[in-house]
Amino acid sequence: MPVRPIVKYGDPVLHSPSPPVAAIDHETSGLVADMVATMYAAPGIGLAAPQIGVPLRVIVIDLSVGADPSQLIKLVNPELVSKEGEQRHDEGCLSVPGYGGSPIRPARVTVKGLDLSGHERIYAATELLARAFCHEIDHVDGLLFVDRLTPLKRDLLKRKLRKRAKNSDWED
Ligand SMILES: [Zn+2]
Repeated sequence: MPVRPIVKYGDPVLHSPSPPVAAIDHETSGLVADMVATMYAAPGIGLAAPQIGVPLRVIVIDLSVGADPSQLIKLVNPELVSKEGEQRHDEGCLSVPGYGGSPIRPARVTVKGLDLSGHERIYAATELLARAFCHEIDHVDGLLFVDRLTPLKRDLLKRKLRKRAKNSDWED
């Protein structure tokens, strides 16, 4: 399970929608294993395949960052099936190191997708887990938390990030 480099803001793979996984096979399992290893090494609570440069709709989430194996979620072709209410909290992203923002997210979501055996999984989530699902599903749709900020904050942050991306001036 090699830890892979995390792609940063400005890389085209992060800014365009990823296609679904057509067939779940050993390559998918290998990808997911690498994603989990990369998420834990970062450390982070979620990761989407485009963040390691793979344009596919695959996400992993673990709010316990490896402390509690029952919290690890691996989802192929995730979809937001319903959302309700609003919440707003600070968010960061492994692909936008050093910056944060507070996008408005749904308070409650229902998400479905496939596990690595190809079986449908449905999750009902609130609070941090709801935010994590929305954040990671945004990634496979080619969106970052930056894109969800108010226009003023978004433009200000994007100007800074474009400069950093142009100089490949990320701190890690
Ligand atoms: Zn992210």
